[in-house]
Amino acid sequence: MKNPDELRRSGIAIAPGVAIGPAFIIEQSGLPVPEYTLPAAQVEKELTRFHGAITKVQKHLSQLRQKAEGLTTGAEDMTLLLDAYKGMLSGSRLVRGVEEIISGQHLNAEAAIQKQTAALRASFAAMDDAYLAARGEDVAEVGNRLIRSLLQQNYNPFADAPEGCVILAEEITPADAALLNPDGITGLATVLGGPEGHTAIMARALGIAAISGVAALCHGIKTGDTVIIDGRKGEIIIHPEAATLQAYKQELARKRQEEKKLKALRDVPAVTLDGAPISLQANIELLRDVEPALESGATAIGLLRTEFMFMNRPDLPDEEEQYTALRDFVTNLDGRVLTIRTLDVGGEKIASALGEDGNESVNPALGLRAIRLGLKQPKLLDTQLTAILRASMHGPVRILLPMISSVGQVKQVRARLLTLERRLHRRGIKLKGLPPLGAMIEIPSAALVADALAKQCDFFSIGSNDLTQYTLAIDRGDERVADLYDPFHPAVLRLIQFTAAAGWRANIPVSLCGEIAGDRRATALLLGLGLREFSMSPVRLPAVKQEVTQIALPDAVAFAEKIMAQTDENEIRTLLAGGPDRGKGR
Ligand code: PEP
Ligand code: MG
Repeated sequence: MKNPDELRRSGIAIAPGVAIGPAFIIEQSGLPVPEYTLPAAQVEKELTRFHGAITKVQKHLSQLRQKAEGLTTGAEDMTLLLDAYKGMLSGSRLVRGVEEIISGQHLNAEAAIQKQTAALRASFAAMDDAYLAARGEDVAEVGNRLIRSLLQQNYNPFADAPEGCVILAEEITPADAALLNPDGITGLATVLGGPEGHTAIMARALGIAAISGVAALCHGIKTGDTVIIDGRKGEIIIHPEAATLQAYKQELARKRQEEKKLKALRDVPAVTLDGAPISLQANIELLRDVEPALESGATAIGLLRTEFMFMNRPDLPDEEEQYTALRDFVTNLDGRVLTIRTLDVGGEKIASALGEDGNESVNPALGLRAIRLGLKQPKLLDTQLTAILRASMHGPVRILLPMISSVGQVKQVRARLLTLERRLHRRGIKLKGLPPLGAMIEIPSAALVADALAKQCDFFSIGSNDLTQYTLAIDRGDERVADLYDPFHPAVLRLIQFTAAAGWRANIPVSLCGEIAGDRRATALLLGLGLREFSMSPVRLPAVKQEVTQIALPDAVAFAEKIMAQTDENEIRTLLAGGPDRGKGR
C-alpha cells in the first residue's frame, strides 16, 4: 500500500549496510542532575567548568546553524531559533544567574543551571503570555544542552534504546560511540559528523549502518516510528511505504548471504596468486572486539586503540587497572601479537579526566594530543607504558606511538622505556626484554623523515586517516568538507609509497592501519606500493583477503605504477574502480 507520509532525507554515507527499525531519538533533556555543595576553594574552578560548557554549546549551536542554512524548507525559522539559543549564552539572565548561584550558594554547575532555568521558566509562565511561555521552553532547552555538555563523561545516551532500534541524534561523540551496543542497535543517523571521524570508524567496525550530515533529522519523526537507514546511499527513509520496506528487507537478506560466503574464507591463508604471504590483522578498541577479530580470520591485532579505556569516566585508570585490562587482551589472543597504541586523546577524542590538557584547543587536531600529551604529562605516559610492559610478560606485544612527528619523540620514549624497565626490575618484575617499539606514520613530517625514523623504530604503522587529514588540511570529522577528504589523493599516496620504501630500505615491517586498509578497492594498489601488512576493522577483513588471493604481485605493481603516474585524483578514482589487469600471475 502507498504511504503518502514516506519521507526521504539525505546525508553522507558513513557506514554501509541497511538498517530497518524503530527510531530512538536521543533527546537533550531528561538527564538525572547531580546536586552537591562545593568547598569554597573549588568555586573558581566550577565557574571555569561552566564557562567551558558555554563555549562548547556555542560551538555546537554554530555548527547546527550552518547545517540549517542549507535546508530547503524551514531554514529561516531554524536559524532564528538557534540564534536565540546562542543569545541566551552571553550576558543573559541565565548565565548571570548561574554564576551567582555557583559563587553565592557554592552549588555545582549542573544543579545551578537547573535551579536558574526553573526560576526563569516560572517567571515567564507567571506573565501569562504564550510568546513568553515559549521563551521559557527555550531557556530550558539551552539549560539542558549545558547540563548535557557538563555530564558527558557519566552519561550513557543509549541506556534505554530498545533492541533493534535506529539511533537518531544531533551528534554522537567517539566517547558515546564506545557505549554503542551492536547487538541492540542496527543503525544510526546524525546531523553532525564526518565519514572519517572515530564515530564513523566505530560504526563501520560494529557493522551498524550509519549516515551523518542530515539537516533537520528529527523533524516529523518521533521515537518508535519506523525508519530505514541506507548506509550506502547516505539516506534515511521515514515512514516507508510497503514496497520500499519490502525492497530493503530483500537487500538485507542478500547482504547476510554475502557475509556468510565471505566468512567461509576465515581459515583460507592470505597468500597472493604468486605465493606471497600477506598479514591481515585487526583494529580493535574494546575487549569485546577480540572475538569478532579472531572470527574474521585476523592473525594478529595491528592496532589496539587504548583511548577508550580513558573515556566515559571521571577519573584516570591507574597502572593496576590498565595492566589488568591489557593482560586480558593478551591472554585472549592466545599467542597472537597485540599492537598496543599508547593513548591518542585530544582532537575529537576527548577524555574529560585529563582536565584542561585533554580538552579542546583552538585547533584541536593540531594541539596537545596523542604522544605530545604523553610527553608533556610523563606520569600519564609512564603509567601506561609500565602497564604495557607488565602485560607483555603474558604474550607477544608491540608498542605503537601515535602522532609521531619527529625522531626525538621516539628517542624520548625509548629512554623512558629503559628507565621503566629498571624500575620494574627494582619491584621484582623482570622482563625478558622490551617489546618492539613502532611509530604511527600519520603526519606528513613523519613520512618525509621515514628513513631517519626507521633507524629508531622496530616497525611502522601508516595511519592513513590522519595522514590524509594533515596532508590535505581537511578536518576528518567535519561533514562540510567531507567531499574533499580523499585518501587516494596523489599527495597522500606518495607519502605512503615513500614510507613503505623507507621500511624496505631499513628492513623493518610496515603496516597500514587506516581505513583504506579495509577498502578492497585499494588492496592491489597498496600491495603494489610495497605493503605486506594491513590492519583493519574485522568486518572488512574477509573481503580484503578475497582480494589478496585474486592478485599476483607483478600485476599489483603494474597497477600501482599506473596509478602513481596520475596527477588527477579523479583519474585515480576511475582506475581504482576499474581494478588492476590480472594477467602476469596466471
Ligand atoms: C589513522 O589515523 O589512520 C589511524 C589508524 O588512527 P586513528 O583513526 O585512531 O586516528
Ligand atoms: Mg590517527
